[in-house]
Amino acid sequence: MKSTARTVGFKPGERNIFFHILTACNLACRHCYINREQHGIQQLSKEQLEQWMALFADPEKTSNMIFLGGEPTLHPDLPFAIRRAKELGFCVTVDSNGYLFNAILQRTSPRFLDFLSFSLDGPDPATNDPIRGEGVFDTCVANIERAVKLGYNVSLIYTVSRKNLEALPQMVPLLEHLQVKKFFIQVLGLRGKSARADDQEIAQVSRQQWLDTVPAVASMAAQKGIHVTYPKVFLASDEKFECAGLAAENFFIFPNGRVYRCPLCEDHPINAYTIEDNRLVKNKGLAEDSFFSLNVAEGCVMNKLLQPDTIEYDEKGTPLYRISCCLLKQEIG
Ligand code: SF4
Ligand code: SF4
Repeated sequence: MKSTARTVGFKPGERNIFFHILTACNLACRHCYINREQHGIQQLSKEQLEQWMALFADPEKTSNMIFLGGEPTLHPDLPFAIRRAKELGFCVTVDSNGYLFNAILQRTSPRFLDFLSFSLDGPDPATNDPIRGEGVFDTCVANIERAVKLGYNVSLIYTVSRKNLEALPQMVPLLEHLQVKKFFIQVLGLRGKSARADDQEIAQVSRQQWLDTVPAVASMAAQKGIHVTYPKVFLASDEKFECAGLAAENFFIFPNGRVYRCPLCEDHPINAYTIEDNRLVKNKGLAEDSFFSLNVAEGCVMNKLLQPDTIEYDEKGTPLYRISCCLLKQEIG
């Protein structure tokens, strides 16, 4: 039976804390969105990890803590942070590039870490390594196998660009073989290196390319028992537009203390909050949240302002479709 994807609306009371604990990384992926000028080069201390997490702990709500970098396993205190996050009531995920530094598999446990997420941008070295680096595929796959053997729940993130869209269907047998439980298909955004460099090969796929491929692959993976999540991107005319900045609680924390509510804004100094002296301070003046309530015919206001090339118009200047919030997901499986 063919499964159908459902749109996952923003759930009141659910919070996602995306915690970039450093920006250092051993890799140099072509689409990396880390922007050290805007996000800092610091590595947070053990005390800061603990104090900053506590700012977002709320036992009344379901809260997800996602540790990111850079490469978060480069931080020697990540095992401490994972354990502390669990004690504070978070559901804990680490997003790794697959190198798993500092013996992370041995120094933490599936009791504290709910999901270990790996990034892979191809089903083989020939597709993945030109994007993520020489030898990355083999290292990542070997470490997925080690993690699964040790009882960790493993998820995988695939960032779709023109360079690897065609190879996406071949991910399904690989995911099944590796016993990956969740598959996240991301769309390459305009943030970071992909936006700054004139790199057409790695550029965003078109609306038609996305619609022709991604839902079908998601359905194939779901039929193998894998839970698949992918961004909604395009809204049908009868679908409601909602901005996560107003309807949900997402926080994107960077080591220089900037805290954003919208990931599209991360390349600009318009963060809604800043962590100062271990306090979460609301920024005054024009910030990202000044824009969230603006109603535009194109859907997401930040997408219209920052990546207008993604929108198509008819001859009267009416948008052909609206762009959803980049945080709105489809789920299947
Ligand atoms: S692994 Fe992540 S942080 Fe490191 S270069 Fe690649 S995209 Fe950037
Ligand atoms: S991506 Fe657009 S709709 Fe989503 S939070 Fe940002 S501004 Fe709001």
